[in-house]
Amino acid sequence: MLDRDRNTMPPMNEAIPFNRPRLAGNEHAYIDEALLSGKLSGNGEFAARCCASLGRRLDAERVLITPSCTAALEMTGILADLAPGDEVIMPSFTFVSTANAFALRGAVPVFVDSEPETLNIDPDAAAAAITSRTRAIVIVHYGGVACDMDRITALVDRHDLVLIEDAAHSLPATWHGRQLGSIGHMSTFSFHETKNVHCGEGGALAINDRSLVGRAEVVQEKGTDRSRFFRGEVDKYTWQDLGSSYLLSEVGAAFLWAQLERLDEITAERRGTWNRYHDAFADLEKAGALRRPFIPEGCEHSGHLYYLLMPTSAARDELIRRLDEEGIKSVFHYSPLHESPAGNRLGRAAGPIEVAPSASARLLRLPLWSNMGDERVDRVVDGVLRHAPKVATDSARPHRTNQRA
Ligand SMILES: *Cc1c(COP(=O)(O)O)cnc(C)c1O
Repeated sequence: MLDRDRNTMPPMNEAIPFNRPRLAGNEHAYIDEALLSGKLSGNGEFAARCCASLGRRLDAERVLITPSCTAALEMTGILADLAPGDEVIMPSFTFVSTANAFALRGAVPVFVDSEPETLNIDPDAAAAAITSRTRAIVIVHYGGVACDMDRITALVDRHDLVLIEDAAHSLPATWHGRQLGSIGHMSTFSFHETKNVHCGEGGALAINDRSLVGRAEVVQEKGTDRSRFFRGEVDKYTWQDLGSSYLLSEVGAAFLWAQLERLDEITAERRGTWNRYHDAFADLEKAGALRRPFIPEGCEHSGHLYYLLMPTSAARDELIRRLDEEGIKSVFHYSPLHESPAGNRLGRAAGPIEVAPSASARLLRLPLWSNMGDERVDRVVDGVLRHAPKVATDSARPHRTNQRA
């Protein structure tokens, strides 16, 4: 049981938020323990527990916990040794932090299209975007569903590139039994309140390439060798390299530990809701009213998000509106980065990009949080079943011309 109100019936008309950050149970106790310990800055006892647990799960050389996934991505930008003008290939269909981290180093984000089935980066598009300036590829396992790792790793090996996994949705999720985030040279995780486990704001950097471990510690500690100083390996610490303050405080780490110790339980619950949505909408998919997420063979997803792809943008907008009228909050994302003002100015698109804008216009995400309760899930299912066929048919009528297909 994750918290007190597990079996309480929500009143019939209670609004169902898109996300509700949940407590796993031991947050208060662990934060009290941290407060009493007298050590509140980064890399304390709770941080060590979080790093060790994630390190075991990932079989990583080293895991560092950070203030956010954004911060962890910035660290990978520094560790990849990018120079101005170097190119970093990434999907257009992702969150801004995936690109920002590299643009901050003066590198050029090169945006490519996604595969229509998974909305993950299209390996052929990535291959076609490679130039003599390409240094790295950043992949995002959308919804915790693995990218095509055979083709991505072949590409990375052939061109000697740095592979960074933005695994913000992927804890825990696997590809042929391997935890996502354990395959690239580096990977990043988010513990933002919208993710499977969280501490309000938080993140992690996993280092799988042993040669990067020492520098990662330096980058996290403002560019100094303070971590070695604390281990007694040097007698003073000095400025060694570029860096910033990329530590999560011990209060955040105590919160995070309470969540991480129940990661599998929380994930099982989210997957349960995901499966109920997936089963409930199978017939709508058959009837052509919408498309459900596609999970390739060998992939175990994280239950992070459940999305529907409607036939048109108008149908998506109308479904969001009708659900909203019933107090059910559904949302959409991502605005394709190659069409954004900063993406245009700081990066460039490579090849035709059609899937990203089309998905962005037609996708909606249903409420999905830990411990939602059966009644809320039933209400969401019922709302979609009642409205989706109608909005799909209406939006297909020829007189509705103001729609993006
Ligand atoms: C949430 C998210 C991030 C950013 O995470 P923060 O911890 O909020 O910085 C980055 N990339 C992806 C794909 C995300 O979903």
